[in-house]
Amino acid sequence: MKQRVLFLGPPGAGKGTQAQQLASSHALLHLSTGDLLRGEVAAGTALGQEAAAVMARGELVSDALVLAIVRSRLEQQAASGGGGWLLDGFPRNLTQAEALEGLLEDLGQQIEVVVLMELDDAVLLQRLLGRGREDDNEAVIRHRLEVYRDQTAPLIRFYSDRGLLQSVDASGEVETVGQRIAALLD
Ligand code: AMP
Repeated sequence: MKQRVLFLGPPGAGKGTQAQQLASSHALLHLSTGDLLRGEVAAGTALGQEAAAVMARGELVSDALVLAIVRSRLEQQAASGGGGWLLDGFPRNLTQAEALEGLLEDLGQQIEVVVLMELDDAVLLQRLLGRGREDDNEAVIRHRLEVYRDQTAPLIRFYSDRGLLQSVDASGEVETVGQRIAALLD
């Protein structure tokens, strides 16, 4: 069974929902940079204050900030005996993907599979509009989709070149999509 998993896909494809379920059924650490950043914002930390305005605009928080968060979590987990992890919402651009390679090399770990969740833009928009999160108004949503296309989508090529990419149809019921993903890990 694959233990080191990365979720890739546009906002609204259901990465968070699927990642959460898979992490709990497969006993993996679920590392969502979006959740961690929202936690920092809610707690009013210096880091959260730095990130809040950028997130509200639908842009990417600085690589240095996100990398520091991911590095500390992965190092912490490796130090406490390792185990699998599932990265959700990270990396978001090539700089982050390259930094992750370096970090994993330091830890002696490797990504085993990259799950690309695919969904039509029209469905994404509908899902995001129905979600009611603070950064989910229509102008910001459109911008987040643009940021995905410009900065994150190049990672599809990056990971397919490394033979790691597996695409999944992210349409349909949560449970059905979950079964498609689980099949890729077993
Ligand atoms: P998400 O929950 O993954 O949709 O992330 C929500 C927001 O958090 C994004 O729109 C970004 O502003 C920020 N964010 C999450 N992950 C990253 C990342 N890896 N790099 C930069 N910004 C991020």
